[in-house]
Order: sequence, then structure tokens, then C-alpha cells
Amino acid sequence: MRVYSTRGRAPAAGLAEAIAAGLAPDGGLYLPEAWPRLDAAAFAADADLPAVATRLLAPLFAGDALAPALPGICARAFAVPAPLCPFGADGDFLLELFHGPTAAFKDYGASFLAGCLTALPRTPAGRPLTIVVATSGDTGAAVGAAFHGQPGLRVLILYPDGRVSPRQAHQLGSFGGNVRALRVAGSFDDCQRLAKAVLADAGLRAEVPLGSANSISLGRLLPQMAYYAHAALVHWRAHAAPLHLVVPTGNLGNALAALLARRIGLPLGRIVLASNANSVLPEFFAGGDYRPRASLATLANAMDVGAPSNFERLQALYPDPAALRRELTAEAVDDAGIRAAIVRTHARRGQVVCPHTACAAEVLDRLRARGEGGHWAVVATAHPAKFPEVVEPLLEMPVPPPPALAAMLARPAQAEPLANDLAALQALLRAW
Ligand SMILES: *Cc1c(COP(=O)(O)O)cnc(C)c1O
Repeated sequence: MRVYSTRGRAPAAGLAEAIAAGLAPDGGLYLPEAWPRLDAAAFAADADLPAVATRLLAPLFAGDALAPALPGICARAFAVPAPLCPFGADGDFLLELFHGPTAAFKDYGASFLAGCLTALPRTPAGRPLTIVVATSGDTGAAVGAAFHGQPGLRVLILYPDGRVSPRQAHQLGSFGGNVRALRVAGSFDDCQRLAKAVLADAGLRAEVPLGSANSISLGRLLPQMAYYAHAALVHWRAHAAPLHLVVPTGNLGNALAALLARRIGLPLGRIVLASNANSVLPEFFAGGDYRPRASLATLANAMDVGAPSNFERLQALYPDPAALRRELTAEAVDDAGIRAAIVRTHARRGQVVCPHTACAAEVLDRLRARGEGGHWAVVATAHPAKFPEVVEPLLEMPVPPPPALAAMLARPAQAEPLANDLAALQALLRAW
């Protein structure tokens, strides 16, 4: 499948090329030129998550350099289950995407991207490819876990010193080996500026092959369709009805994947975005202008996004705003609503949810209160034990980490200090 840039000023590329590049050379985001059509009958009745992923993605990878490796990449990225579980006693569901090594949905996309980059031949031969990633917490950990121990690949994580939670900092520094964590004397924006600057430095890249694992990569977006497809199929076979979704949303990567799975033909119904107090998407979908702005800090910090990067893809897919507003709706939940939803969801549904998942649980409760029928799933994007400082005081009980996260937290952690200075980062990369 060929892919094109949303900005229309870059040549069409192959999928493998687009996955290796991340961003298109004109600064746009890549999208496939055509979408396959696959309905429930296209999938074997007993297809598990890796089999659904392989069948779903095969038409997009057909004829590509990565096609032969696709089944193996899916087997590894989707070895972690994504179960559709009961959510309370009234027939609602929780789509649990937090069973991976860093206990958040980003593990799937990061692992798929790592598989693609490992499978691609690299030039110059024999030189490792160094992935530079700036993170405010979750992304860096998922990328570190996915690339840890992968031959020919190294990861340099830049995070703002003192501005990630203690548990996040421990995770980021716990990998060792081919994954190095740098605690930068600066903000997340400083980290992102440093990462962008080295990635744009052609002289440095000639000496040290560099790559990115940014969330706008097709290598992270496309595989995220798989858990929605699998959940929709499991639900369709049990209930002969479409599954409606509420998706916690920040940069819109996870929710866009749900929309794409439905567009391909999977039996998904309504898709509702749940934002935190960063309400740029709810305002647009309510009929207002799209007004990107600086982000606000909230309890659901992985969704603190004021300019959702994947909105550019939505606009390319649905140039008419009225047509786009028919595809999705969106609601905002402020910090008071998040706290209340964590407490209420535990009391009424017997489930402990993370602050991001709580936004979606609150939106589902609003929909039900307005008399909305049908079968709904709240998408659980992270395990609540990643956010003990928020969840434990509200519920007045400990929330133990799942085994994979506990193992990571039990390892020693070490991060290296880095000055907020481009020359220091360039010197470090040359010396590695
Ligand atoms: C990244 C993240 C989100 C937001 O996902 P997007 O794809 O950016 O919309 C939501 N919840 C958690 C826990 C996350 O880590």
C-alpha cells in the first residue's frame, strides 16, 4: 500500500519507508491511499488477537518490504491480551488495554513499531539505529520496554527532571543495556525541542543513524486498530450487535484507530471521545471552531494535550467538518469529575480505574443518564496502579501493581543528568 502526506507536498511513499521516517518530509502525517474493506465474515471464528491483527493489517502491508515479517511482528506485539470484561452488573464492558509491560495501551503500538524497525534492513549496515524519544512519562516507558534488548536498536529517553511521577521516573530508568534515560534540567517542551533538533541535524545523522518513535508514526497508529477489531468481533459473535466505545483521548491516536477499524468494516457503533479539561475536541465536535491552544495540567496527565496531533489526519479523511462531526462526538471531564468518577466507579461497578479511564467512565455514566441504550465499552488505557498518588487517597486503599509493572519497579533504576543544552546531547550521541 502506498501512503500520502496530509500536507500534500511530499511524494507518495511505501509503508515501510513511512514507518521508518515517522513524519513526512513536508511536515505532514502519512495516511494510506486506500483502505481495505473487511467485515466480520473476513475473520476466522476462532481468531485470537494476533490472528485478527495479522488479517486486518495484511491488506495494508501487501507488497511491502515488511509483509513477510507481519505475522511475527503481530505475534509479539499482541502476545499481551486485550480482554473485553464486564464493567459493573448492568451489561457494560471495559476494554482492558493495560496488560503490557508498562501497563498502558501504548505498549501495543510501541512493540509493533519496534518489530517493524528490527525487521527493516538498515543503512549503513552494521550501525545501530538510535531512537530518540522525548517523554512526559508514558510514551518513553512503552518505547523503552518495546526496544529493550532488540538487536541493532538503541533508545535514548529524554524526560524533564523532577516533573514526572516517582513511579514513572523509576520505570524510565529501569531498563539499562541499550536503553538510556536522561533526566533533563528543563521542561517537557525543552526535551521535545532537544529531540527535534538532533533529529533535524543532518550532519549528526550522517555519523549516528537516528530515528524517532513519535506517536504520529503509522507504525504505532495502524496496529492500534487490532484490539478494537478483536473486541468488536468477540462482541458481535456473542450479541449480534455493534459495540459502542468511549475512548479516553489526548493526541487522538487511540480513538482514531477505533474510527479506522469501523471505517474498514468492523462491527463498531458510536465512538465517543472523552477528554479531560483540555476541551479543544469537545468544543469542535459541539459545532465550534477548532482552536488548538497551550495544554492545561490535569489528573489525567497523559491526555494533557491542547493541539491533538492526529486532528490533521481526521481533517484529511473528512475535509467537510459537518461530515467529520457525524463520525464522532466528544465530551470533557474536569479534575473534580475525574475524582468523582474514580470513587463512583469503584462503589457502583466494583472497578478501580486510572484517571484517564475515569474520564471515559464519567462520559458513559452521562450517556446512560440521558437514556442512551445499546452495548457500550469504556476503553481502559492504563492500569490504576500507575497513578497511586491520585487513586489511593480517593479510595483509601492500596492499589497493587500488576506483575509486569511490579517486576519493572523492583529493578534498580538509574537516569543520567543532562544539561538543557543541544551541544551536550550531540556530544553524548557521538560518544555512545
Ligand atoms: C497516551 C495516553 C492516552 C491518550 O491517548 P491518545 O492516543 O494520545 O489520544 C490516554 N490514556 C493513557 C493512559 C495514555 O497513556
